[in-house]
Amino acid sequence: MKENIVTSIIKQNCPKCRKGKLFSSSLFNLKSFHKMNDKCDNCGQDFNLEPGFYMGAMYISYAFQVAIVVGTLVGAAVFNPELSFQSHLIIVGTLVLSFFTSIFRLSRSVWIHICVRFEEAITS
Ligand SMILES: [Zn+2]
Repeated sequence: MKENIVTSIIKQNCPKCRKGKLFSSSLFNLKSFHKMNDKCDNCGQDFNLEPGFYMGAMYISYAFQVAIVVGTLVGAAVFNPELSFQSHLIIVGTLVLSFFTSIFRLSRSVWIHICVRFEEAITS
């Protein structure tokens, strides 16, 4: 099945062939959730394009975290306007910490999908 770019980003697959896996370990393994494969198992695409390549993923990560904060603010304003500032901070902190590994990996996946083009010939 041919994947589009959104499913490839969410599944954290290789941006070039959209089949190989970017990460070598489970999302829930807190000791190694950040470890990436060096190259794609399917097409050989290098996942470390240059030293410090994933610094750009920090901006993507920042955008995701701002979305969580703003989403929580809007949700609190709509559903519970009486919520105190401290309660809001606890909710935001819990959400950001809970989704830290997901945001980390998703940000890297988005970043490499921005920088590496899909090549359809490789998938067929
Ligand atoms: Zn690949």
